[in-house]
Amino acid sequence: MGNIIKNDQFKKGLQELLQNKKFKRTLKIIYKEKKNQILSVQSCQIFDNDFSIKQRLDQREGMPIIFEHNCKILLDVTERQRYFDSCTLCNKKIKWDRSLSFCPNCKQETTYQLAYCLVVKIIDQISEDNQVTYKATMFGEAAKYLGISAKDFSNMSHDSQNDYLKNINEQKSHIVHSLKLEFKKNLVIQEILTQAIQ
Ligand SMILES: [Zn+2]
Repeated sequence: MGNIIKNDQFKKGLQELLQNKKFKRTLKIIYKEKKNQILSVQSCQIFDNDFSIKQRLDQREGMPIIFEHNCKILLDVTERQRYFDSCTLCNKKIKWDRSLSFCPNCKQETTYQLAYCLVVKIIDQISEDNQVTYKATMFGEAAKYLGISAKDFSNMSHDSQNDYLKNINEQKSHIVHSLKLEFKKNLVIQEILTQAIQ
């Protein structure tokens, strides 16, 4: 254990951790061991704000989860998925059957409205180098983020839509947001909670 006590980085990191009990922090130690005895500490790092998105999802092993996380949002003009016909009762996607609109979720005929299902990129601000990127879908929050209704947005030409998205990126893609994220099969931005303070 001698090597650990001598390791200045380890001591400094541990002190910092102990002095900041009120913050959720994670101490990551990479060490060498032999016959269950720790030989030396290779590295020691403290993470603020607990886990990365990958760590959170790995912990759940594919089970659904809702969590808050700091991310940047990058609109992706290469994504074709932007809006869809949504059931006015349950907001899920309707199916067209002989020109009747049938909701498989409500199991009945229904009326529909155009709604966003905008696929965007989110950049995890707790990941390595703050660069790890995921696809996530924005439903209702997209209207707020883009500042335009799904109907008005859909009436624009594809090129105009792309210009609109690029313009929003220029204004907002540097901002770190606190996002309420849901994972079932994919990541969904349920809510943009705040502009996080960095
Ligand atoms: Zn429905």
